Amino acid sequence: MLKGRSKGFEGLNVEIIEKNLCSYCGACVSFCEHLELGPDAPVLKEECSLDKEGVLKCSENGTCYDVCPMTETDIEGLEKMFLDSKGISDEHFGIYKKLIAGKTAIEGQDGGMVTSMLVAGVEKELFDCVIVAERVDGYNAVPKITADVEEIKKTKGTKYVQCPMVSKIGEAVKRGKRKIAVVGTPCEIRAVRKIQSVLLKEVPQIEITTIGLFCFESFYHDKFVSKTRELLGIDLSSASKIQIAKGEYEVTVNGNRYKTKITHLEEMVRASCR
Ligand SMILES: Cc1cc2nc3c(=O)[nH]c(=O)nc-3n(C[C@H](O)[C@H](O)[C@H](O)COP(=O)(O)OP(=O)(O)OC[C@H]3O[C@@H](n4cnc5c(N)ncnc54)[C@H](O)[C@@H]3O)c2cc1C
Repeated sequence: MLKGRSKGFEGLNVEIIEKNLCSYCGACVSFCEHLELGPDAPVLKEECSLDKEGVLKCSENGTCYDVCPMTETDIEGLEKMFLDSKGISDEHFGIYKKLIAGKTAIEGQDGGMVTSMLVAGVEKELFDCVIVAERVDGYNAVPKITADVEEIKKTKGTKYVQCPMVSKIGEAVKRGKRKIAVVGTPCEIRAVRKIQSVLLKEVPQIEITTIGLFCFESFYHDKFVSKTRELLGIDLSSASKIQIAKGEYEVTVNGNRYKTKITHLEEMVRASCR
């Protein structure tokens, strides 16, 4: 029962989850002990007690509802809060200071900039932990909190599936981490900012650095595996790299590259990305 709440998990369920709009970022479970992540969306594991508990006190509408990137968001307010007002405002890029292209010694997905920035940030003690996507069975990914440079390097490369990166912020804060870097897709970065705007009131010494990735869409892992087998005759667990660029889907296995058109992957796209 969500007495006294106008939204709460019920609101999230009706407005977002049942409409297939959940991006599976994990923001809602990050600070709520009543929720857990199911295989494709959050689920209520026990009745919501309305307790104000944990690092982040539950809000009037329910923190799960407030921090969801798909519920109403005051984008302008978030921009004012987190982006330098002196930046350049661009219709497509949003607000930025400077655009540069780079390539690093770490052979990542597209030049290794993300991994290199994370490693440098940990080495220079700008971050006391980072949240990255670790590859697991097939070509799936799970979020991981680490401050170990070798572990960070191992998480380089894009896993084109939805990985609930934001679910780990609460755990990092509970573990006493205060300078946290998070890598994520745009939905995830939006959720991080929504969390951060609330969190700063409760734990002001928190510094969260976001590293956003360009993203058009992500895929359902199981469909990704079966469709790849059907289209390319490949078991994704044996792939060393997947690249989606310039309209093509390319999988590398033992140094050999297998390609098909990205349009063939349409049915694997997460409903929320549409
Ligand atoms: C689902 C998805 C779709 C994307 N679509 C596009 C696109 O359409 N166009 C485009 O230009 N770029 C896209 N990207 C970004 C691109 O694939 C590269 O991640 C980016 O260019 C950074 O390259 P890099 O070599 O610096 O990264 P690396 O140094 O290789 O590091 C990659 C980082 O991404 C993190 N990561 C990997 N998978 C995920 C995941 N599923 N969720 C969150 N973090 C993850 C890893 O933890 C690592 O920190 C997409 C990324 C994802 C995850």
